[in-house]
Amino acid sequence: MTQTDYKTAVEQLKKYSYHYYVLDDPITTDEEYDILYHKVVAYEQEHPSEIVSDSPTQRVGDVPQDKFDKARHLVRMWSLEDLFDREELETWVNRITKVYGDVRFYCEPKFDGASLNLIYDNGILVQAITRGDGALGEDVTQNAKTIQSIPLSIGYKERIEIRGEVVIFKEDFEKINEERLKNGESLFANPRNAAAGSLRQLDTRITASRRLVFMPYGIGANTLEIKNLSERMEWVYGLGFRNPHMTHLCESADQIETFYHEMRVERDNFAMLLDGMVIKVDSIAVQDELGYTVKNPRWAAAYKFPAIEKLTTLREVIMQVGRSGVVTPVAIVEPVDIEGVTVERSTLHNFDEIERKDIRIGDKVIILRSGDVIPKIVKVITAERTGNEQSIPRPKQCPVCGSELLDEGALIKCQNLSCEARVVNSIIYFASKQCLNIDGLGDKIVEALHSAGMVHEVGDLFDLTMEQLLSLEGFKEKKSRNLLDAIS
Ligand code: NAD
Repeated sequence: MTQTDYKTAVEQLKKYSYHYYVLDDPITTDEEYDILYHKVVAYEQEHPSEIVSDSPTQRVGDVPQDKFDKARHLVRMWSLEDLFDREELETWVNRITKVYGDVRFYCEPKFDGASLNLIYDNGILVQAITRGDGALGEDVTQNAKTIQSIPLSIGYKERIEIRGEVVIFKEDFEKINEERLKNGESLFANPRNAAAGSLRQLDTRITASRRLVFMPYGIGANTLEIKNLSERMEWVYGLGFRNPHMTHLCESADQIETFYHEMRVERDNFAMLLDGMVIKVDSIAVQDELGYTVKNPRWAAAYKFPAIEKLTTLREVIMQVGRSGVVTPVAIVEPVDIEGVTVERSTLHNFDEIERKDIRIGDKVIILRSGDVIPKIVKVITAERTGNEQSIPRPKQCPVCGSELLDEGALIKCQNLSCEARVVNSIIYFASKQCLNIDGLGDKIVEALHSAGMVHEVGDLFDLTMEQLLSLEGFKEKKSRNLLDAIS
C-alpha cells in the first residue's frame, strides 16, 4: 500500500462509516469494511508518523446526528478489538497472561445492534444516550423508555451507567421489512440497522412499535464494590435486566476456543443476530491496570463469527414456473462462500420486488445466508453502478411453454394447464411429503417419467407398469417394485 492508497482507503472507510453509523444504511458488508480496515491498520503500524487524525482507527463510531440533542457519557464508551482466528486469540490471551498470570476471562455473546448507555440516578432512569463518538452521543431517553426490557426504575440508589446493546429479533426484522416494502419505503439491510434506525426515530411512537430489546453487557460510571465482572453482571440481571444465558468463565485460550465453537453452533437458535463472542478480563482491578488504547479497552476483544453477509455481483435472473403457473424470478450471482456453503442462487420473490428494490443485472449486491434460510439479496449497492447494469424486464411469454403470461402485478402467471413446468411441478407436489407422501417419487423421477412420456397427469401414476419402469435408466427390479408398492 502506498501513502496515496492509504489516504484513499481512509476516505473510503469514512464514507462507509457515515452510511453505517449516521444514516443506518450501509453501502458495503461488514466483511469488506473489516478487510479494508485491517489494511489501514497494517499500514499505520508500519508508518506511525503518517497516521491521519481522522483515520477510523483513531475514533469510536461516528459523529452523533444533529436531529437529536447531544449528551455526554459520564464515562467514555469504547469499540472492541476484533479477533478473527485461533492464532489471533492466542496472541491476545498471551499478551495478558504474560503479565497477569492466571486471569479468568468472562465470555458472552456479541449481540449485533446499537449500543446504548442508561444513566440511573436515585433508582430512576434519567437518561439514555447512544454511543456516538464514545464521549458524546444522542439523547434518546424518550425512545428508550418505550423499550420494555429497560427498567424505568431499579432497586439501587447510587448513580450508575448500565450499558448494553439494543437489538431486534430476526423475526420482527422480517416483519418490518415486509411492511416497508408494502409502503414503498427503503428496506433495512439487516437487523442491526433496523435496531439502530428504530432507536433513533424522532417519532417515539415508531420506536415503540418496533419491539426493540435491550441486552445489558456492562457498567460505566459506578461506585460498586463488586470485584469481578461476572459477579457484576449477575447483579445487573438481578436488577431486572435480561440475562443472555450464554456466558462462561474461561481460564485459557483452549477453553475460550471451545466455548466459542459452542456459541457458534447455537448462533442460529438465538432470536437475535450474534456477530461474535466478546471476551473480557473478569477482574476489575486487572481491567483498570490494562486500560485503553485510543479506541478499545485492552482487557476486552470481539472474537468474530464468520460473515453471513457477502458482497457479490448479480449475473443473471432466471425464471421458474411453479405448479400454479406463477413465474418466480431467481437471481444467479457470482458464487460466494458463506459459512462453508457455496451460494450462487437467491430467491427474488416476484417482479414487483425487483422493481421496488431496483435490482439490475451486473449490480453489486449484498447477499445474506443465515442458518438454513434460503439466501436472499438484502441490498443493492446503487452507489457502485457503472452505468452498464441492465434492468430486468417483466416477462411476457412463459419461459417453458412460450404461451402468453398473465401479469397481475405482484404475480405473473402461465395460464397453460399443460405447460410442462406446471404439470411436472404438480405431480412433484402431489407425491411430496405434504400431500400423498409417495416414497421414492422425488423431483428427478417425476421428470424422468414425464420426459419418457409415461406420465402426463397425476392419474397416470396409477397406470404405471413394471415393464415401463424397467425401461428407465437406473431402474432395476427392486427399485421398480418399491415404487409401484408405494404408489398403490
Ligand atoms: P463493534 O460493533 O464491532 O464492537 C463494539 C460494540 O459491540 C460495542 O460498542 C457494543 O455496542 C457491541 N457489543 C455487543 N455485545 C457486546 C458485549 N457483550 N460486550 C461489549 N460490547 C458489545 O465495533 P464498532 O466500532 O461499533 O464497529 C466496527 C464494526 O462495525 C466493524 O468491524 C464493521 O464490521 C462494522 N462496520 C461496518 C460498516 C459497513 O459499511 N458495513 C461501516 C462501519 C463499521
